[in-house]
Amino acid sequence: MLLHRGRRAWQDWRVTALPTGEQIEQRLRALYGRCEVEPPDSVASYYDSARGYYGPEEAGEESGRFGVALASRAGQVYGVGDDEISFPLQSLSKIFAYGLALADWGRERVLERVGVEPSGDAYHSITFDERNHRPFNPMVNAGALVTSDLVKGSSPEEKLERILTMLRLFAGNDELDVDRETFRDELRNADGNRAVAYLMRDRKMIDGDVEGILGLYLQQCSVHVTCRDLAVMAATLANGCVNPVTGEQVLPLPRVRDVLSVLYTCGMYDAAGQWAYDVGVPAKSGVSGGILAAIPGKGGIGVYSPGLDSYGNSARGIKVCREMSENLGLHVFAAEAEDAMLGAAAPSIAS
Ligand code: GLN
Repeated sequence: MLLHRGRRAWQDWRVTALPTGEQIEQRLRALYGRCEVEPPDSVASYYDSARGYYGPEEAGEESGRFGVALASRAGQVYGVGDDEISFPLQSLSKIFAYGLALADWGRERVLERVGVEPSGDAYHSITFDERNHRPFNPMVNAGALVTSDLVKGSSPEEKLERILTMLRLFAGNDELDVDRETFRDELRNADGNRAVAYLMRDRKMIDGDVEGILGLYLQQCSVHVTCRDLAVMAATLANGCVNPVTGEQVLPLPRVRDVLSVLYTCGMYDAAGQWAYDVGVPAKSGVSGGILAAIPGKGGIGVYSPGLDSYGNSARGIKVCREMSENLGLHVFAAEAEDAMLGAAAPSIAS
C-alpha cells in the first residue's frame, strides 16, 4: 500500500508525535472505513461523459468506487481503496491550465480576460461578470475556456501539448494523457459549453476558432489520472509548486499564491464558501468524482468517489476531507494549538 517515492522520510512532516508510515496507513484505513458508509441521501447524481448526469437509482458498481491518497511534502504517497483506478480530470484540469496561462502572461494580463470572483452559480451557468466584461473566474466553464485559450501556442495542438506537459510535471507522471474515448463522448455532449463559447465570442471575450478552443478544453478535461496522481499534484501546489517527488519547480513561485487563492474561493463550485468554512484548504473537484485538496506547507490529498452531492462534489470526498481537516487541524485559519500536523495539537481521532 505504501509507495516509496524518493528516499526522504515521512519525518519531514515534523508532526509533534511523529507517526510512522505504518501508523499513517492505519489511520488512513480507519478514515476510509468510516467514510465508506455513505449516507444514501448525500448522493444526488453521477456523471459519465457518454451518459451525462444520472440518478443514484441507475448507478451500478461505480457507487462503490472509492479511493483516497495522501502525498507528503517529502514525496511519499499513501493510498487506500481504489487508489489506482483512473478517471477523467474534468474540472480539475482547470487548475493547471490557469497556472500555465498565468505563467505565460502574468497576473495582470490574465486578469483582464478572466476574473477571480466566485460566481455563486453552478460551473456551467451562462453568466458573466458584466461589469468587467469577463467570465467570473477560471474555475467555471466560461473562465476555463478563456484560460485554455490563453495558454501560449500557435495551434490548439501545441497548447494541448503544453497543458499535458504541465499536468505531467505536477503529477510527476509522464504517462498522463488524453483518453480518446472520454474526449469523443465529451465532444458529443458539449452543447452547453459550445453555447457558452459562441456567446463569449459574440461578446468579444474570446475570438478565433471556437471549435478549436472547445476541443482543447474538452481534451484537457479528458486526461485520466488516479487519486494518487491527484495527491501528488495537490502536494506540489502545497509545496510552492515544487513537485515533492521529482524536486522540480513546475510553476514560478509568484503564481502559486494566485492559483491557491482562486482554488480557495472558487474551487468547489457553488459550495466553495461552505468548504472554506468547514475544511479550509484550497481545493478543486471534478464531476467525475475527484477532489484535490492542497494543504499549504504540509501535503496533498486526492480522493475519488463518483457519487456527487447536489453541488456536484464527490459526497465521500467531502466527508474524507472534512474529517481529515477537523482531525488534524488543517484549516488554514486554525490556530497553532489546533494544528496536529506541524503544531502542538494531537489528532482528535487517534485511530
Ligand atoms: N467536461 C465537463 C464540462 O465542462 C466537466 C466539468 C466539471 O467537472 N465540472 O462540462
